[in-house]
Amino acid sequence: MRILVQKFGGTSVKSKRSRQHAIRHIKEALSEGYKIVVVVSAMGRFPDPYATDSLLSLINGNQSKLSNREKDLLISCGETISATVFSHDLLENQIESVALSGGEAGIITTSNFSNAQIKTIDTQYIHQLLKEHQVVIVAGFQGKTENNEVTTIGRGGSDTSATALAAALQAEFVDIFTDVNGIMTADPRVVSNAKKLEAISYTEICNLAYQGAKVIHPRAVEIAMQANIPIRVRSTMLKDKGTLITNAPEADYSESIHDKLVTGIAYVNHITQIRIQEIKEPQQLHVMVFKAMAEAGISVDFINISPNGVVYTIFERDEPLAKEVLKELKVNPTYTEDCAKISLVGAGMSGLPGVTSKIVQTLTNKQIPILQSADSHRTIWVLIQNKNLETALNALHVAFQLEK
Ligand code: ASP
Ligand code: MG
Repeated sequence: MRILVQKFGGTSVKSKRSRQHAIRHIKEALSEGYKIVVVVSAMGRFPDPYATDSLLSLINGNQSKLSNREKDLLISCGETISATVFSHDLLENQIESVALSGGEAGIITTSNFSNAQIKTIDTQYIHQLLKEHQVVIVAGFQGKTENNEVTTIGRGGSDTSATALAAALQAEFVDIFTDVNGIMTADPRVVSNAKKLEAISYTEICNLAYQGAKVIHPRAVEIAMQANIPIRVRSTMLKDKGTLITNAPEADYSESIHDKLVTGIAYVNHITQIRIQEIKEPQQLHVMVFKAMAEAGISVDFINISPNGVVYTIFERDEPLAKEVLKELKVNPTYTEDCAKISLVGAGMSGLPGVTSKIVQTLTNKQIPILQSADSHRTIWVLIQNKNLETALNALHVAFQLEK
């Protein structure tokens, strides 16, 4: 049995019209001889009536004192409604299907409600249903505990439902249908020449998390990676095959994966850099600063520790609290506000000299100061001032020939 998992996000199941587009993809896959497990998100976005945030708004959202267990019972309804409505629309298209809740589909999770983790998937029932039906629809984002209590698996969790089901069913592919046509080399709102990638590896997409996370949940990618199941990120509205995420690219994809030093560029802004130079007792300083940050619940990034002091970044929103904390420590920090962190990601850069040099050259030519940098096998990060972001991204995009 050749099984395909096709996941449709909120915008793809929002209206009759969008579901009609989704069904076109299902028909195509059926004609190729696949049995299909469809995973759906809740319909639309707030204020659409059955979107997750709309359901949450019935109980005052996250301010509600209601237990997470009851909250899960409520918000899981979004996907349940979506699954049954989708089944109805399929029937109108002469395609018979069975709609299942996550629990009915055999998805067993831990019991930390609202953020449960999938423990196992008992695929027996789905397998049995697939013998008699072409399509089984599973409500995404939900499962059940061993005690049959309904759980949800964290916001954006339908992607994870899809790849976990694909792994358990040993599907050939997972299609993640969304409102963009795949993964781009850079944010198209900032980089005018940004291009859709034909293929990208699991690790690259994980490293592009900030860009990638908007398109596909990183946890979903990790599960697919472990099971070695290829993912295609595709637009519901188009016929295109989107971007393939895989480790073992097929021949016609291999070039686009291996032949480039840099595959994509992502960024995060609203970052503040903190520099503390205190040479007297460096080790004590290191311990003290990071302990205080942790205790205040401030997440730190881009950490650079040396005998001369420490440099690190925080999100702008944490700056007032960080200032208070550091004042109490009686250290002398310098704050550089309004920074942006650029990540250049590419499996091809591993071990190859010259990548950093090219970045430095490119930014220097544009007279953009680099405030900090760091690198790993597949990623190089640079911190710059946000006012230089657009120029920097476009220049780097050209320098690494990403538009080609
Ligand atoms: N409906 C859920 C959410 O909005 C799950 C998902 O769409 O992936 O977070
Ligand atoms: Mg999503």
